[in-house]
Formats: sequence, C-alpha cells, structure tokens
Amino acid sequence: MAVPKSKISTSRRGQRRSHDSLVSASHEECQECGELKRPHHVCGECGHYNGREVVDASASI
Ligand SMILES: [Zn+2]
Repeated sequence: MAVPKSKISTSRRGQRRSHDSLVSASHEECQECGELKRPHHVCGECGHYNGREVVDASASI
C-alpha cells in the first residue's frame, strides 16, 4: 500500500532497507583449468567437477 513519504520514519525506512543490500556472487578457481567458477558447480570452461570430466567441454560452446 502506498504511504506518504513523510509518514515513514527514518527508522522504519531503514528497517525495510536492511534486506536490500546485494551480495556478490562467490567464485573459486577451477582445479583443472584455473578458470573462475561458482562453487559446487561444474566448470563452464572444461566441464570438470571434483577432479573428473562430467560434461563434454566441446559441447558447451
Ligand atoms: Zn575448469
């Protein structure tokens, strides 16, 4: 519901915005090729996960 700006206290507004901050996506280096990848995800460059190739890398172009 729309509420006039002047009716919302600084505290109230701050409490609402306390959840608004963006969290940067985490990343780590692939152990196979050294490319940055997301943790717990298959590497997009070489298709490796946990030391073995699980996806054909040439197919992911
Ligand atoms: Zn890789």
